[in-house]
Amino acid sequence: MSNATNTQHVELDLVHCNGCQGCVDLNPDIFEWDETTDRPIVIRPEATIQEVQDAMNCCPGECILIKE
Ligand code: SF4
Repeated sequence: MSNATNTQHVELDLVHCNGCQGCVDLNPDIFEWDETTDRPIVIRPEATIQEVQDAMNCCPGECILIKE
């Protein structure tokens, strides 16, 4: 058992992003919509896998990357 918060580094690889905004809908505290580029940006990169798991599952472009 660990008391560590276990946060990791969230990044976006938008090559296959279709602009569905699912990531922003599911994690508005981690992702924000950039109206200029019409694509999401990461506003809080330190997050746990649990926090972004649903967004990773729903992202059709597999754009959400987790780095140790
Ligand atoms: S969920 Fe994936 S495809 Fe949809 S806007 Fe976010 S990064 Fe792009």
